[in-house]
Amino acid sequence: MTEQGPIVIVGTGLAGYSLAREIRKQHKDVPIVMITADDGISYSKPMLSTGFTKGKDAEGLAQAATEAMAEQLNLKLRTYTTVTGIDTDNQRLLLGEESLSYRKLVLAWGADVIRLTLPGEGQERVFPINDLGDYRAFRKALKPGSRVAIMGAGLIGCEFANDLRNGGYEVDVIAPSDAVMPSLLPPAAANAVQTELEALGVSFHLETVVERIEPADTGLTLFLANGEKRQADLVISAVGLRPRTELARAAGIDTGRGIKVNRALETSAQNVYALGDCAEVDGHVLLYVLPLMACARALAKTLVGVRTDVSYGAMPVMIKTPCCPVAVCPPPAEAVGFWETEQDGSHVKTLFKNADGEVLGFAVTGRFAIEKQALSKVVPPIHS
Ligand SMILES: Cc1cc2nc3c(=O)[nH]c(=O)nc-3n(C[C@H](O)[C@H](O)[C@H](O)COP(=O)(O)OP(=O)(O)OC[C@H]3O[C@@H](n4cnc5c(N)ncnc54)[C@H](O)[C@@H]3O)c2cc1C
Repeated sequence: MTEQGPIVIVGTGLAGYSLAREIRKQHKDVPIVMITADDGISYSKPMLSTGFTKGKDAEGLAQAATEAMAEQLNLKLRTYTTVTGIDTDNQRLLLGEESLSYRKLVLAWGADVIRLTLPGEGQERVFPINDLGDYRAFRKALKPGSRVAIMGAGLIGCEFANDLRNGGYEVDVIAPSDAVMPSLLPPAAANAVQTELEALGVSFHLETVVERIEPADTGLTLFLANGEKRQADLVISAVGLRPRTELARAAGIDTGRGIKVNRALETSAQNVYALGDCAEVDGHVLLYVLPLMACARALAKTLVGVRTDVSYGAMPVMIKTPCCPVAVCPPPAEAVGFWETEQDGSHVKTLFKNADGEVLGFAVTGRFAIEKQALSKVVPPIHS
């Protein structure tokens, strides 16, 4: 193995830039090259679903220009450059016709949105929103008084629903589940969020799906599986994300739900690492900011020579539905126990306890949301 060549980081999302920052805290001038398929503008992705609440458009949500990031982090940054393959034997990254050698390679290339292939002629009015460019396109298409249908009632669907209502838009949410955020929230907390979103004017159509989207005289008609029809001008598709694994798999790197790495963020290929939305860390696929920050801190140390395992504490997820603030720490998937709930209308505190009374998870909404920090100290870490 050559000790020549830079650390190459693919991706300038929160994972890529956080890692570059952490490396610079450890080492001022180890050579770093960052490569991104997009424009490299630094932004905080969670803020995309707060644009109207915070009075910001896509440009307002951008935090730093690409050149400023390259200068601040003292690195080379290549934008609009798509990685097409990895030659792990020769430690080269393939960029179409070109190739680039690496000493260490970090994959921080995120997750793809799941795209539904629905019949009908209305597809060009369907917007998945998973980066600043997507958000820019959506905001450009959104006109005063637009009616927006959101497919999906997960965290992203609910946050956009709240934000668009704050912006004065009509919002329908359509989803197959019988509750909002079913994989994240226990029923009492989910009901509280749904109730408050409905009070804000969001119209929910649960236990059904959009089957077809057709242009109408004005806007679109959405045909739902339950026989209902809804009118909209734009559709946000928020039906889920899938870690980007294809290029890694093609290069012979082990993948599962994400690119498999151990707690030192090492993939199965020598000198190739992964973190962020593309990674499956010791069996965990956590598409959130706190885990990727913990990974960035650990991996920076490893890359400058001190091999370091990531350790996660409890990682509460804050859901940005200002009409009903929520913090949740789901119990481990294999945990056995029951939810114990204290409730005052939409103010809910629900704790997941085992038979010994230990708190293994929680969800707090409304005025109980301020208890998240204290509760985070009580629940066990995701893995130590
Ligand atoms: C609307 C919304 C709200 C959210 N809210 C929260 C929240 O409140 N709390 C929370 O914890 N998490 C939240 N999340 C999730 C969180 O934002 C993500 O987990 C995180 O931003 C992922 O960062 P990443 O760097 O791994 O991926 P990304 O930001 O997707 O970055 C991927 C990078 O890889 C590049 N890339 C991809 N493929 C290639 C290729 N082949 N060649 C070159 N470059 C490539 C892309 O151009 C991009 O630069 C939210 C997500 C969304 C969409």
